Amino acid sequence: PRKLLIVVTPTYTRPFKAYYLTRLAHTLKLVPPPLLWIVVEMHAQSLETAALLRETGIMYRHLVCDKNLTNVKDRGTYQRNTAMAHIEEHQLDGIVYFADDDNMYTLELFEQMRTIKRFGTWLVGMLAPGKSRPILEGPVCKDEKVVGWHTNEKSKRLRRFHVDMSGFAFNSTILWDPRRWKRPTLEPIRQLDTIKEGFQETTFIEQLVPDESVMEGRPPGCLKVMVWHLHLEAPKGFAYPAGWT
Ligand code: UDP
Repeated sequence: PRKLLIVVTPTYTRPFKAYYLTRLAHTLKLVPPPLLWIVVEMHAQSLETAALLRETGIMYRHLVCDKNLTNVKDRGTYQRNTAMAHIEEHQLDGIVYFADDDNMYTLELFEQMRTIKRFGTWLVGMLAPGKSRPILEGPVCKDEKVVGWHTNEKSKRLRRFHVDMSGFAFNSTILWDPRRWKRPTLEPIRQLDTIKEGFQETTFIEQLVPDESVMEGRPPGCLKVMVWHLHLEAPKGFAYPAGWT
């Protein structure tokens, strides 16, 4: 039987939301089942998201993060925590992937994910026009073995692992059966919110795996980009579309 893919997407209401969620729903619909799409919103379910989820025919759960936030930059982090708590509580058994709503995913990526035993990682193509950021984030591999990371001088010194949130996926049982995996820590992994911006990925991964030796580079050689990140939002005051109608 095919491995269950657990795709976690935090989302929020903004002008490009319909565009992003529709596109992602279509991608996921092309992935052979079983796939569970966990979509998490802040404070309340929006009617538009609920309608979209109902109509896609994808197996889904529509969760709400009710964390009371005062001054928080990265709300998506809390929303991912909500999804992980759900996976733990229900002991869902599959491969967990954080799929932000604004990325573009190839079908090959989901095929590759199904071959992961513990923790898989790959390149993310960062499309950031005008920004002096690396074009690629992710592992350098020799076949499946991760031997290094694409990085720059500055972040090389700061971060242990150089992976984007959408550049890895892992076995969900690591969350609720840590003993089986000899996880570095047996503390519950749900502290993403206490972590400084820019360090979420590395700090999270440090709790899942001891080092690169247990990572699985995908596809073997890690020379292929299977997901792209393009940060693109509407300018302020772009008042379209309320209720998507
Ligand atoms: N996100 C969210 N609430 C927010 C900000 C972001 O749900 O207040 C979601 C967003 O929809 C996306 C993910 O979190 O799925 C990452 O978005 P963000 O724009 O923060 O990431 P970036 O593009 O800056 O890496």
